[in-house]
Amino acid sequence: MRVLVLLAIGIWLTISIVPTAYSQETKSAPKVMESDDIEELVMVSKGTLPIVLSAPHGGTLKIAGVDVRQGQGMATGPSGFFTGRDGGTSELALAVAQALEKQTGKKPYMVVSKAHRKYLDPNRPSEIAYEDSDAAPVYQRYHGNLQRYCQEVLQKYRTGLLLDIHGQGSSSKTVYRGTGNGKTVARLKERFGESAHTGDQSFFGMLNRLGWQVYPYPADGKEQSGFTGGYIVQTHGSHRPSGLDAIQLEFGSEYRDKEDRSKTADVLTQAIIEYMREYIEPVARIETADKN
Ligand SMILES: [Zn+2]
Repeated sequence: MRVLVLLAIGIWLTISIVPTAYSQETKSAPKVMESDDIEELVMVSKGTLPIVLSAPHGGTLKIAGVDVRQGQGMATGPSGFFTGRDGGTSELALAVAQALEKQTGKKPYMVVSKAHRKYLDPNRPSEIAYEDSDAAPVYQRYHGNLQRYCQEVLQKYRTGLLLDIHGQGSSSKTVYRGTGNGKTVARLKERFGESAHTGDQSFFGMLNRLGWQVYPYPADGKEQSGFTGGYIVQTHGSHRPSGLDAIQLEFGSEYRDKEDRSKTADVLTQAIIEYMREYIEPVARIETADKN
């Protein structure tokens, strides 16, 4: 009997001590993951479709040896200094790439920042984007590849679409369009008219038809102040000779939460495929005919 009691106490001790030790370990501060590998800090991937996906604000890594940005004396706000990350957006970009490949057998071009926005903001001009020159090569890798990919797509297909993927906290159910009120899709409007940007068959018209709450809608309304399109679409948009038609997408949390992402990726993929059929393939075909 005494043996049994001791055995019971032994088992009780084991059960009660082990979880305590475990929970103490999980309570310790999470290790900040850092990297000095430029290829890890900006993920780039060459595509086989006239589509370029950019996600500058979803990263979590510290850039090794670089301090958190302070923004001293800088203006804050939509085009100023800000360090908050757009949670779930790099995962969303990857999910879209996967869905596109599954549907078409081809891949979009990708540029995705893995660095946390505390250290680098690729969606700003360089003077606001970083404060330590060690972060400069990471910034240059982001924009250098974006520029190279846009030029390559333009050369190969004569047109293409750059989607810059972001997250916003103003409205969880809404996706905002940012094109500088049509400026960064100048070539699309030139070729196909204003309705290609604002009509039912525009990219945001398609997304609305597929069930998304988009803004502006009707799409000929003014874009929401603060979400009119940042440095990336302003730099690589089609109002510039070597840019592509470029749209910034600002997703509410209901589109980029873990459980919603794959559905979001499927809808976005469907709209991209429709857009390619409507606005890219006819132009690319003319180009092929010219060459023959
Ligand atoms: Zn953002």
